[in-house]
Amino acid sequence: MSMPFVDHHTHTLFSWDSETTVDELALSARKNGLFGVVITDHIEFHPSDRGFSHYNYEKALEAYEMARQTYPDLKIKFGAEISHHPKHLSEIRDFLKKRRFHFTIGSNHNIGWEEVPDYVSRLENEGDDFKETLTPYFEECLKLVESNLYDAIGHIDFPKRYFKKRVSSDFFISHYERIIRSILTASLDMGIFVEVNTAPYRVQINEPYPGWEILRLYRKLGGREVILSSDAHRPEDLGTAFDAVIKELSRMGISVRNGV
Ligand SMILES: [Zn+2]
Ligand SMILES: [Zn+2]
Repeated sequence: MSMPFVDHHTHTLFSWDSETTVDELALSARKNGLFGVVITDHIEFHPSDRGFSHYNYEKALEAYEMARQTYPDLKIKFGAEISHHPKHLSEIRDFLKKRRFHFTIGSNHNIGWEEVPDYVSRLENEGDDFKETLTPYFEECLKLVESNLYDAIGHIDFPKRYFKKRVSSDFFISHYERIIRSILTASLDMGIFVEVNTAPYRVQINEPYPGWEILRLYRKLGGREVILSSDAHRPEDLGTAFDAVIKELSRMGISVRNGV
C-alpha cells in the first residue's frame, strides 16, 4: 500500500509502448491508495521515433474526461511526456500552444539521431566507458530546460538503465558534474520541476532517476521540492517504491509536491 501521493508520470494505451486502459490505471491507483495520477502519454515529433504518430490528442482527452467523472475520489490530471527533440522545437511549441494539458514533462530520449538505448549499446560494444560520451545527452537536457516548453524535466540520468555494468549517480557526478549542475540550476532558476522517477527499481537499480548523488547536489543548490513518479506502463507499476523514496528524500530535506 502506497502513501496518498500523486503519481506524476504514467502511460496508457495512447502511448505506443503501453496497453493499459485509463480505467485500469485509475482502478490500480485506487487499490494502491494513491491520491491521484497524472496521465502523461508519449508524444513523439521525430518521424523515425518508434512512437511517431501513435498519439491521438482528442481520444486521449476524451478518455481522461470519462475517467475524471467515473473516479471523482481520485485526483486525475491530463498531461503528456514530450520527447524533446532539438530539430522539432517549433513543432513542439506549436503543438503545445494549440492544446491544453495540466502538466507536461519534457524528456530527452535521444542522443543526436539515435535513441538512448541504441546509442549506449553501440558504444558499449565499441568498448566505450561513458566517461565523456554522454556529454551531448546532458547538453540537450540543459537545452530542454532552457526551452521553457515544459513543466518538468523527466528522468535526468536515464541512460544508466542501459549500461550492462550497473552504475549509480556517483558515476555521473564524477564525470558530468558541471553540466548536471547547469541543468539543475537552470531548472531552479526557471521554475521547472525536477522529476524523481522510480522506474529504475523495476529493473534492479536501487535509486531513482536522477539518483541520490544528483539529488544531493540539487539540494545543495537550493532545491527543496520535486515531483514523484513511477513512469508506469502497466497498472501494477503505479507508485513503485514511493514509500522508500519519499523517506530518503525527506531525510535529504527535499519534499514531494503532491499534485499539479
Ligand atoms: Zn521517458
Ligand atoms: Zn514515460
